[in-house]
Amino acid sequence: MNPDSPLSLLLKEPGRSALMSDVDGTLCRIVDRPEKARVPVKARDSLETLSRELALVACVTGRPARVARDMVGAKSVTYFGNHGLELLEPGKEEPEMVLEGEQVTRAARFITDNDSPHWVAAKIRVEDKGPIQALHWRGAGERTEQMVREIAEDARAADLVTHWGRKVLELRPPDMEGKAGAVESLLADTGLTTVVFAGDDQTDLDAVKRLRKMKSDGQVEQLLIVAVDSDEGPPELMETADMVVAGSDEWIDMITGLAA
Ligand SMILES: [Mg+2]
Repeated sequence: MNPDSPLSLLLKEPGRSALMSDVDGTLCRIVDRPEKARVPVKARDSLETLSRELALVACVTGRPARVARDMVGAKSVTYFGNHGLELLEPGKEEPEMVLEGEQVTRAARFITDNDSPHWVAAKIRVEDKGPIQALHWRGAGERTEQMVREIAEDARAADLVTHWGRKVLELRPPDMEGKAGAVESLLADTGLTTVVFAGDDQTDLDAVKRLRKMKSDGQVEQLLIVAVDSDEGPPELMETADMVVAGSDEWIDMITGLAA
Protein backbone atom coordinates (compact mmCIF):
# COMPACT_ATOMS: atom_id res chain seq x y z
CA MET A 1 0.00 0.00 0.00
CA ASN A 2 1.32 3.38 -1.00
CA PRO A 3 0.82 6.22 1.52
CA ASP A 4 1.78 8.82 -1.12
CA SER A 5 -1.11 7.93 -3.42
CA PRO A 6 -3.83 10.58 -3.98
CA LEU A 7 -6.20 7.84 -2.78
CA SER A 8 -4.30 7.26 0.47
CA LEU A 9 -7.20 8.67 2.53
CA LEU A 10 -8.55 5.10 2.21
CA LEU A 11 -5.57 3.76 4.15
CA LYS A 12 -6.00 5.85 7.29
CA GLU A 13 -8.81 3.67 8.56
CA PRO A 14 -9.03 0.86 6.00
CA GLY A 15 -11.66 -0.97 8.04
CA ARG A 16 -14.00 2.00 7.56
CA SER A 17 -13.13 2.78 3.95
CA ALA A 18 -14.81 2.03 0.63
CA LEU A 19 -13.52 2.22 -2.92
CA MET A 20 -16.28 2.29 -5.54
CA SER A 21 -15.82 2.40 -9.28
CA ASP A 22 -17.97 2.39 -12.38
CA VAL A 23 -16.84 -0.11 -15.04
CA ASP A 24 -17.44 1.01 -18.66
CA GLY A 25 -15.46 4.13 -19.45
CA THR A 26 -13.87 4.06 -16.00
CA LEU A 27 -12.12 0.68 -15.63
CA CYS A 28 -12.02 0.15 -19.39
CA ARG A 29 -12.29 2.16 -22.56
CA ILE A 30 -15.64 2.54 -24.29
CA VAL A 31 -15.73 0.55 -27.51
CA ASP A 32 -18.30 0.41 -30.31
CA ARG A 33 -19.48 -3.06 -29.37
CA PRO A 34 -19.96 -3.34 -25.58
CA GLU A 35 -19.19 -7.08 -25.58
CA LYS A 36 -15.65 -6.25 -26.76
CA ALA A 37 -14.82 -4.03 -23.77
CA ARG A 38 -11.86 -5.35 -21.77
CA VAL A 39 -10.70 -4.45 -18.28
CA PRO A 40 -6.88 -4.62 -18.02
CA VAL A 41 -5.45 -7.40 -15.87
CA LYS A 42 -3.58 -4.93 -13.66
CA ALA A 43 -6.90 -3.32 -12.71
CA ARG A 44 -8.22 -6.72 -11.68
CA ASP A 45 -5.13 -7.53 -9.63
CA SER A 46 -5.13 -4.16 -7.88
CA LEU A 47 -8.83 -4.40 -7.01
CA GLU A 48 -8.22 -7.89 -5.59
CA THR A 49 -5.34 -6.59 -3.49
CA LEU A 50 -7.32 -3.61 -2.24
CA SER A 51 -10.33 -5.78 -1.38
CA ARG A 52 -8.14 -7.56 1.17
CA GLU A 53 -7.17 -4.26 2.79
CA LEU A 54 -10.31 -2.15 2.63
CA ALA A 55 -13.71 -2.83 4.17
CA LEU A 56 -15.36 -2.54 0.77
CA VAL A 57 -14.29 -2.53 -2.86
CA ALA A 58 -17.26 -2.36 -5.21
CA CYS A 59 -17.95 -2.00 -8.92
CA VAL A 60 -21.17 -0.07 -9.55
CA THR A 61 -22.33 -0.54 -13.12
CA GLY A 62 -25.18 -0.51 -15.62
CA ARG A 63 -24.22 -4.01 -16.72
CA PRO A 64 -25.79 -7.09 -15.18
CA ALA A 65 -23.76 -7.93 -12.06
CA ARG A 66 -22.45 -11.29 -13.29
CA VAL A 67 -21.43 -9.82 -16.65
CA ALA A 68 -19.51 -7.14 -14.77
CA ARG A 69 -17.76 -9.74 -12.59
CA ASP A 70 -16.74 -11.71 -15.69
CA MET A 71 -15.44 -8.53 -17.31
CA VAL A 72 -13.48 -7.22 -14.36
CA GLY A 73 -12.44 -10.67 -13.20
CA ALA A 74 -11.90 -9.73 -9.54
CA LYS A 75 -13.76 -12.35 -7.49
CA SER A 76 -13.24 -10.74 -4.08
CA VAL A 77 -15.00 -7.54 -5.12
CA THR A 78 -18.69 -6.64 -4.68
CA TYR A 79 -20.69 -5.90 -7.85
CA PHE A 80 -23.77 -3.72 -7.89
CA GLY A 81 -25.19 -4.24 -11.37
CA ASN A 82 -28.03 -3.22 -13.64
CA HIS A 83 -28.12 0.34 -12.32
CA GLY A 84 -28.57 -0.66 -8.72
CA LEU A 85 -30.89 -3.62 -9.19
CA GLU A 86 -28.56 -6.56 -8.56
CA LEU A 87 -26.15 -7.01 -5.69
CA LEU A 88 -23.55 -9.73 -6.22
CA GLU A 89 -21.35 -10.27 -3.21
CA PRO A 90 -17.98 -12.06 -3.23
CA GLY A 91 -18.36 -15.83 -3.18
CA LYS A 92 -22.01 -15.75 -4.30
CA GLU A 93 -23.10 -17.32 -7.57
CA GLU A 94 -26.40 -15.49 -7.98
CA PRO A 95 -27.03 -11.79 -7.50
CA GLU A 96 -29.57 -10.67 -4.98
CA MET A 97 -32.43 -8.67 -6.52
CA VAL A 98 -32.92 -5.37 -4.81
CA LEU A 99 -36.44 -4.96 -6.12
CA GLU A 100 -39.22 -7.10 -4.77
CA GLY A 101 -42.31 -8.86 -6.03
CA GLU A 102 -43.87 -8.17 -9.39
CA GLN A 103 -41.64 -5.12 -10.01
CA VAL A 104 -38.85 -7.51 -10.99
CA THR A 105 -40.84 -8.88 -13.92
CA ARG A 106 -43.03 -5.89 -14.80
CA ALA A 107 -40.98 -4.73 -17.81
CA ALA A 108 -40.57 -8.27 -19.16
CA ARG A 109 -44.31 -8.84 -18.89
CA PHE A 110 -44.93 -5.62 -20.80
CA ILE A 111 -42.68 -6.92 -23.60
CA THR A 112 -44.44 -10.30 -23.69
CA ASP A 113 -47.84 -8.59 -23.84
CA ASN A 114 -46.89 -6.01 -26.48
CA ASP A 115 -44.18 -7.51 -28.66
CA SER A 116 -45.39 -8.02 -32.21
CA PRO A 117 -43.99 -9.05 -35.61
CA HIS A 118 -44.09 -5.32 -36.48
CA TRP A 119 -41.26 -4.70 -34.02
CA VAL A 120 -38.90 -7.03 -35.84
CA ALA A 121 -39.98 -5.63 -39.22
CA ALA A 122 -39.24 -2.12 -37.92
CA LYS A 123 -35.75 -3.23 -36.78
CA ILE A 124 -36.54 -2.91 -33.09
CA ARG A 125 -34.36 -5.27 -31.08
CA VAL A 126 -35.24 -6.15 -27.49
CA GLU A 127 -32.42 -6.65 -25.01
CA ASP A 128 -33.47 -8.63 -21.95
CA LYS A 129 -31.70 -7.15 -18.93
CA GLY A 130 -33.98 -8.83 -16.43
CA PRO A 131 -35.96 -6.15 -14.58
CA ILE A 132 -34.94 -3.67 -17.30
CA GLN A 133 -35.92 -4.26 -20.91
CA ALA A 134 -34.10 -2.23 -23.55
CA LEU A 135 -35.39 -1.50 -27.06
CA HIS A 136 -32.68 -0.72 -29.59
CA TRP A 137 -33.29 0.69 -33.06
CA ARG A 138 -29.89 1.75 -34.35
CA GLY A 139 -30.00 1.67 -38.16
CA ALA A 140 -33.78 2.12 -38.38
CA GLY A 141 -35.59 5.22 -39.62
CA GLU A 142 -38.10 7.88 -38.58
CA ARG A 143 -41.12 5.60 -38.66
CA THR A 144 -39.50 3.23 -36.23
CA GLU A 145 -38.71 6.12 -33.92
CA GLN A 146 -42.39 7.10 -33.97
CA MET A 147 -43.29 3.50 -33.17
CA VAL A 148 -40.92 3.50 -30.22
CA ARG A 149 -42.47 6.73 -28.92
CA GLU A 150 -45.87 5.00 -28.97
CA ILE A 151 -44.44 1.97 -27.18
CA ALA A 152 -43.00 4.32 -24.56
CA GLU A 153 -46.44 5.85 -24.00
CA ASP A 154 -47.97 2.42 -23.51
CA ALA A 155 -45.15 1.49 -21.14
CA ARG A 156 -45.76 4.55 -18.98
CA ALA A 157 -49.46 3.66 -18.91
CA ALA A 158 -48.35 0.25 -17.60
CA ASP A 159 -46.48 1.98 -14.73
CA LEU A 160 -43.02 1.61 -16.15
CA VAL A 161 -40.43 4.36 -16.21
CA THR A 162 -38.96 5.21 -19.62
CA HIS A 163 -35.32 6.13 -19.90
CA TRP A 164 -34.00 7.35 -23.26
CA GLY A 165 -30.46 6.84 -24.46
CA ARG A 166 -28.87 7.08 -27.87
CA LYS A 167 -31.13 4.91 -30.09
CA VAL A 168 -32.18 2.95 -27.04
CA LEU A 169 -35.26 3.11 -24.85
CA GLU A 170 -35.07 1.42 -21.48
CA LEU A 171 -38.22 0.33 -19.69
CA ARG A 172 -37.61 0.22 -15.95
CA PRO A 173 -39.73 -0.58 -12.93
CA PRO A 174 -40.71 2.54 -10.97
CA ASP A 175 -38.88 1.96 -7.70
CA MET A 176 -35.43 1.99 -9.26
CA GLU A 177 -33.05 4.48 -7.81
CA GLY A 178 -30.15 3.71 -10.11
CA LYS A 179 -26.61 4.14 -8.89
CA ALA A 180 -27.75 6.61 -6.21
CA GLY A 181 -29.66 3.81 -4.53
CA ALA A 182 -26.75 1.43 -5.09
CA VAL A 183 -24.14 3.53 -3.31
CA GLU A 184 -26.50 4.35 -0.48
CA SER A 185 -27.37 0.72 0.16
CA LEU A 186 -23.72 -0.34 -0.05
CA LEU A 187 -22.94 2.08 2.77
CA ALA A 188 -26.11 1.69 4.85
CA ASP A 189 -25.51 0.33 8.37
CA THR A 190 -21.87 -0.46 7.62
CA GLY A 191 -20.11 2.22 9.67
CA LEU A 192 -18.04 3.07 6.60
CA THR A 193 -17.10 6.74 6.69
CA THR A 194 -14.43 7.23 4.01
CA VAL A 195 -15.44 6.83 0.38
CA VAL A 196 -13.71 7.18 -2.97
CA PHE A 197 -16.00 7.00 -5.99
CA ALA A 198 -15.02 7.10 -9.68
CA GLY A 199 -17.22 7.34 -12.75
CA ASP A 200 -17.67 8.92 -16.15
CA ASP A 201 -21.32 9.46 -17.04
CA GLN A 202 -24.78 10.67 -16.12
CA THR A 203 -25.63 7.59 -14.04
CA ASP A 204 -22.47 8.16 -11.99
CA LEU A 205 -23.49 11.76 -11.39
CA ASP A 206 -26.63 10.43 -9.65
CA ALA A 207 -24.37 8.43 -7.33
CA VAL A 208 -22.12 11.43 -6.73
CA LYS A 209 -25.06 13.62 -5.75
CA ARG A 210 -26.25 11.02 -3.27
CA LEU A 211 -22.76 10.66 -1.77
CA ARG A 212 -22.46 14.44 -1.41
CA LYS A 213 -25.78 14.46 0.41
CA MET A 214 -24.62 11.64 2.70
CA LYS A 215 -21.54 13.71 3.46
CA SER A 216 -23.54 16.82 4.30
CA ASP A 217 -25.78 14.64 6.51
CA GLY A 218 -22.65 13.44 8.32
CA GLN A 219 -23.00 9.76 7.33
CA VAL A 220 -19.88 10.00 5.21
CA GLU A 221 -16.97 11.88 6.75
CA GLN A 222 -14.41 11.87 3.95
CA LEU A 223 -15.35 11.75 0.30
CA LEU A 224 -13.22 11.91 -2.84
CA ILE A 225 -14.93 11.99 -6.23
CA VAL A 226 -12.85 11.12 -9.29
CA ALA A 227 -14.33 11.90 -12.71
CA VAL A 228 -13.02 10.23 -15.83
CA ASP A 229 -13.17 12.85 -18.57
CA SER A 230 -14.99 12.02 -21.80
CA ASP A 231 -16.71 13.94 -24.60
CA GLU A 232 -19.98 12.21 -23.84
CA GLY A 233 -19.95 12.65 -20.07
CA PRO A 234 -21.98 15.36 -18.32
CA PRO A 235 -20.04 18.60 -17.70
CA GLU A 236 -21.57 18.75 -14.21
CA LEU A 237 -19.71 15.58 -13.23
CA MET A 238 -16.37 17.12 -14.20
CA GLU A 239 -17.21 20.36 -12.38
CA THR A 240 -18.31 18.70 -9.16
CA ALA A 241 -15.47 16.15 -9.00
CA ASP A 242 -12.51 16.57 -6.65
CA MET A 243 -10.18 15.16 -9.29
CA VAL A 244 -10.55 14.73 -13.04
CA VAL A 245 -8.46 12.15 -14.87
CA ALA A 246 -8.00 12.04 -18.64
CA GLY A 247 -9.16 8.46 -19.20
CA SER A 248 -9.68 5.01 -17.74
CA ASP A 249 -5.95 4.22 -18.00
CA GLU A 250 -5.20 7.08 -15.64
CA TRP A 251 -7.81 5.91 -13.12
CA ILE A 252 -6.39 2.39 -13.28
CA ASP A 253 -2.92 3.81 -12.67
CA MET A 254 -4.27 5.49 -9.54
CA ILE A 255 -5.73 2.23 -8.21
CA THR A 256 -2.57 0.36 -9.12
CA GLY A 257 -0.50 3.05 -7.43
CA LEU A 258 -2.52 2.75 -4.22
CA ALA A 259 -2.25 -1.05 -4.18
CA ALA A 260 1.50 -1.02 -4.83
MG1 LIG B 1 -19.40 4.45 -17.34
